[in-house]
Amino acid sequence: PSIPDLLHAPDTAFSFEFFPPKDDASEAILWDSIRRVERIRPSFVSVTYGAGGSTRDRTVRVTSRIEHETTLTTMAHLTCVGSSTTELRQIVGQYAGAGIRNILALRGDPAGGLGTPWTPHPGGLDHADQLVGLIRELGEFTVGVAAFPDKHPESGSLEEDAQVLIRKAQAGASFAITQMVTDVDAYLRLRDLVAASGRSIPIVPGLMPVTAYGQLQRMTELNGQPLAAEVVERIEAVKDDRSAVREVGIQICTEHAQRMLAEGAPGLHFITMNRSTATLEVHRNLVG
Ligand code: FAD
Repeated sequence: PSIPDLLHAPDTAFSFEFFPPKDDASEAILWDSIRRVERIRPSFVSVTYGAGGSTRDRTVRVTSRIEHETTLTTMAHLTCVGSSTTELRQIVGQYAGAGIRNILALRGDPAGGLGTPWTPHPGGLDHADQLVGLIRELGEFTVGVAAFPDKHPESGSLEEDAQVLIRKAQAGASFAITQMVTDVDAYLRLRDLVAASGRSIPIVPGLMPVTAYGQLQRMTELNGQPLAAEVVERIEAVKDDRSAVREVGIQICTEHAQRMLAEGAPGLHFITMNRSTATLEVHRNLVG
């Protein structure tokens, strides 16, 4: 079944996100995680595309290796950063050649980092909706897109974000995955805004359990905005006890997942940072 079919099925679609490793030692860790994740038969796994397009070849290589050497369905991320339209076409061609049929179409962050102005490649694309259109034009791909319950940093309002998501659906995207959700109400607000527009697109929440106190700062940077106060408070309360931080982090993530599933979330997308243990613990808490 296709990813959109799995997202419309009664069973929860679980998916897991990895990034392309930099060296042999990290590659071994990744493969260990992939094999563990494979045992629970997730709906799909995805491989990110490095900031500034830096991991282009590694993303292609790792995704196609997963596609060929495991039973998993793969999705490769792709961004517009640093590539002309011709180059984007070539990368999509490489994905197709490797048997990858699912692509998460993203604009990418500005080359100068979050908070700096976005300038498209002179011969490239300005926004993710254009990349969705390009990929759909090139073949039988299933295309997903990004969604931002905490509002995209460059966007004026959540209403604007909802409109952008609808535009991406109109361009041919068949599902969306959110940034890491730390505020369930924010996820529900975005979902309801999109639903109220009359256009439906499944919006899968992204989740990542906090497993170490030091991660709070890093997650805030990754998300481009502060984490929900409730999460910060509960982690701060046990910050001197490493195992308690991990336990509370997994507990919070489990509670958020349970609430979103009860609210009808079509699936859950776990950001693993290439370590599967914590996310698989959340998964076990959910499925028993
Ligand atoms: P867009 O949809 O183009 O939106 C960017 C901004 O432009 C928004 O403020 C939006 O409101 C506005 N906008 C959108 N369309 C239009 C339009 N037609 N006209 C005017 N304004 C518009 N980054 C990576 O580098 N590699 C990855 O692998 C990666 N994976 C991600 C996975 C997920 C699930 C998520 C949520 C994000 C991921 N990102 C990744 C980060 C993402 O690239 C950045 O957040 C980026 O800043 C926005 O990407 P986008 O695809 O949403 O862009």
